[in-house]
Amino acid sequence: QRPMTPDEGRSGGLKSVTHVIAVSSCKGGVGKSTVAVNLAYTLAQMGARVGIFDADVYGPSLPTMVSPEVRVLQMNPDTRQIMPTEFEGVKLVSFGFAGQGSAIMRGPMVSGVIQQLLTTTDWGALDYLVVDFPPGTGDIQLTLCQSVQFSAAVIVTTPQKLAFVDVAKGIRMFARMAVPCVAVAENMSFFDGEDGKRYYPFGQGSGERVKQDFGLPHLIRFPILPELSEAGDGGRPLVVAHPSSPTAESFMELGAGL
Ligand code: ADP
Repeated sequence: QRPMTPDEGRSGGLKSVTHVIAVSSCKGGVGKSTVAVNLAYTLAQMGARVGIFDADVYGPSLPTMVSPEVRVLQMNPDTRQIMPTEFEGVKLVSFGFAGQGSAIMRGPMVSGVIQQLLTTTDWGALDYLVVDFPPGTGDIQLTLCQSVQFSAAVIVTTPQKLAFVDVAKGIRMFARMAVPCVAVAENMSFFDGEDGKRYYPFGQGSGERVKQDFGLPHLIRFPILPELSEAGDGGRPLVVAHPSSPTAESFMELGAGL
């Protein structure tokens, strides 16, 4: 796969977007959306202009994780471009803000609709657009990679040994599409007990192995943390609710590595 030229990679509503970041995982439920959303708000806190595109048609999580006042996407009648909604200064587009019809579409239709929603949105001038990929490495993900030139990918995984094989698949997909994987986010990596000890309920080492085997520059570990899911379920990402917590610092590290 030949890398796209900047013109090919950033057309239409994406023409003033500098970096498009893929946040991807091979399985659902590993915390991909949690990482994507907190990463986006961290970049905003670092002073960047940021948007989030929630590309998960079947299980959009963005409407739960953030609480914008306007929960329906509007179309500009003159340009016929979709206008993102906004929460805490971050622009947002999700199928969860686009009505219910998409949930019953077949695969090939879904790919087209995702591509359309991504590229016909008027994102305006952004430093970062964070794209929360649907889990897996199928047609939908490939179409996404072909519709815009991604600057970098972040792979989200959990420490279970099984996850390694799937993660490798994800990294290879991005490599084929000439997208560099810059970081692995090992989520639910550990928890700190009240006894002051750190526990690794799913074992240690798989994130490190991914980092080593694929030469990824960064490995960031995130704990199992009730606050992380409470914040997500409550419509206020953890880094917004608790900006000076240790986990918010880990998100800063992830943001700085992009
Ligand atoms: P995915 O996007 O991979 O499907 P989500 O980000 O939606 O995963 O997370 C799945 C569930 O797990 C959510 O309820 C979320 O709040 C919770 N969760 C994710 N990461 C953590 C964590 N590190 N600690 C506690 N809960 C988490």
